[in-house]
Order: sequence, then C-alpha cells, then structure tokens
Amino acid sequence: MSTRTLLDGGDLDLISDGDGEDSRCHWDESVCTETPTHYLLYPAGEGTEALTYCARHHGLTLAVLLELHLPRCHGSVEDHIVGFGALSDASGAGRDH
Ligand SMILES: [Zn+2]
Ligand SMILES: [Zn+2]
Repeated sequence: MSTRTLLDGGDLDLISDGDGEDSRCHWDESVCTETPTHYLLYPAGEGTEALTYCARHHGLTLAVLLELHLPRCHGSVEDHIVGFGALSDASGAGRDH
C-alpha cells in the first residue's frame, strides 16, 4: 500500500542510513570510492555543512567552482564555500607543499 511513498523517500534513506555516510567522497559527478582526506565547508541555511572528499576531488570541486561556476555566477566565493582543507589538519600532518 505504501510502495509509492517508499520509492519517493527510500533512496535517500538507503544512502544516508549507513555509518559510512561521512567517510565517503561526496564527488557527485561519478561514483568515487577513494578514502576522503579533505573537506569542503558549504553555507547551509543559517549554518554550514561540511562534506568530505578525496584529495583529488577536493581539488577538482574547488577548481570547477572557481574556474567554471563563479565566472558565470553573481555570487561570491563566500556564497558558495566558506572553508576547505585537509581532515588531518588537526593532527598536525602539515602542509602539502
Ligand atoms: Zn573522490
Ligand atoms: Zn553560484
């Protein structure tokens, strides 16, 4: 009886149900199974939302935003992203360069 309701909201539940939700790369152009080592901090309503990415897609996402999206967008960088970096910063892993 509730098949349609399950289909409407079921997919999201399945995806976010696992405890690995926060430990996957959130690159959404393709499936990525790399271990996330970086994060991007997005404006979300009144707060922020941090999504994790592998190092490559962290850089790619930033590049796409800065090189492709922003030139066509009326918003500023801060409208799109409020922070980024490596997840290991807190452990003193140092800089990439
Ligand atoms: Zn990735
Ligand atoms: Zn924009």
